[in-house]
Amino acid sequence: MTHPKHAPMTQFPIRNHCLVIGDLPLTRLAQRIGTTPFYAYDRKLISARIQFLRQHLPAGIHLHYAMKANPMPAVVQHLAGLVDGMDVASVGEMKVALDAGITPENISFAGPGKSRQELICAIAAGIVINVESEYELETIAQLAEETGFQPKVAVRVNPDFELKSSGMKMGGGSKQFGIDAECVPAVLQRIAQLRFDFEGLHIFSGSQNLRVEALREAHEKTLQLGLQLASTSPVPVRAINIGGGFGVPYFPGESPLDLNAVGTNLQRLLAEIPSQFSAIRFVIELGRYIVAEAGIYVCRVLEKKISRGQTFLVTNGGLHHHLAASGNFGQVIRKNYPVAIGNKMKIDETEIVSVVGPLCTPLDLLADRMELSRAEPGDLVVVFQSGAYGLTASPTAFLSHPASLEVLI
Ligand SMILES: *Cc1c(COP(=O)(O)O)cnc(C)c1O
Repeated sequence: MTHPKHAPMTQFPIRNHCLVIGDLPLTRLAQRIGTTPFYAYDRKLISARIQFLRQHLPAGIHLHYAMKANPMPAVVQHLAGLVDGMDVASVGEMKVALDAGITPENISFAGPGKSRQELICAIAAGIVINVESEYELETIAQLAEETGFQPKVAVRVNPDFELKSSGMKMGGGSKQFGIDAECVPAVLQRIAQLRFDFEGLHIFSGSQNLRVEALREAHEKTLQLGLQLASTSPVPVRAINIGGGFGVPYFPGESPLDLNAVGTNLQRLLAEIPSQFSAIRFVIELGRYIVAEAGIYVCRVLEKKISRGQTFLVTNGGLHHHLAASGNFGQVIRKNYPVAIGNKMKIDETEIVSVVGPLCTPLDLLADRMELSRAEPGDLVVVFQSGAYGLTASPTAFLSHPASLEVLI
């Protein structure tokens, strides 16, 4: 029987059996940092990914970075010079984006449940607020009166379709996100009355999609819905954010997204748009796809333990730093992330092991019965595909173990 394999992790070179990140062998990087565990993100890989996107996406399309995927300030600063804007999901993220020098008009703020205080901050900053409900719109109207500032808004639309085979659905059906598409025309009337600075529409339907066909369909329906709403809007639609949702291969049997095909489809769809809409700017927003593959999580083997024939590598890292690799961040069935022994790459001697962390819970599992190079205490375990939804998506206070560091190299 052949088992499905992980997509090959070829983004980091190997020198003398050691993984190399940012031109440094991993063992040396660990010495430079002085402690494990840590996350390391490779700035050249992030830049290369943006370049790859620019090559394959239609020329006029604007590229935004969705900061919640990786809000490390150095990463955001690096991306600030490479993307056309950023999408933030809190005032905390807004601060990081503004600190990085992104102009406020190019920052948009999405998410349900924005507090009055958060809305005041966003209005004062002059960023685009993606309005998620009628209630939020009326709150913004009150705050506009109180502050005397004209708010910049876009309408987040909850579409009447879902992104098929998406890891996480964020649109379609009943959702806490956005305003149901059928209610949007009335909301646009209200925005015209309020004389807000109106940016346009934001339609985001899902995340972690590897299927070209599903993305093509989502792009087609999203554009259709956006243009239909734009054609009857009493306020001009300057921009339509068509979301993103591009996935990366995490689990055995998955292969990388065919970006060329996605880009070609999108090019064709944009070319078909009637000329009356030619002033509309189209935006695509990506988090995971930009940073996930540029990052690794590294922890050290503390102990090798055999229990009734099964070998465990007990490490100093675990779910408190990397919830997603443990299988507890939205996965239905637990599967292994790509994992390797970073200082023993491509050696012949392997064994089947489970990699666990130091937390006193069986959930603290980084690899379940994987074939890895034969490891000993002191060796470095690497979890690939860890640049997105890693540290900040993890319960770092759980069991009060030391924090993980992060470096951009
Ligand atoms: C989370 C989020 C994204 C990013 O999704 P990725 O799968 O990381 O690309 C984009 N837009 C919105 C509105 C989001 O909430």
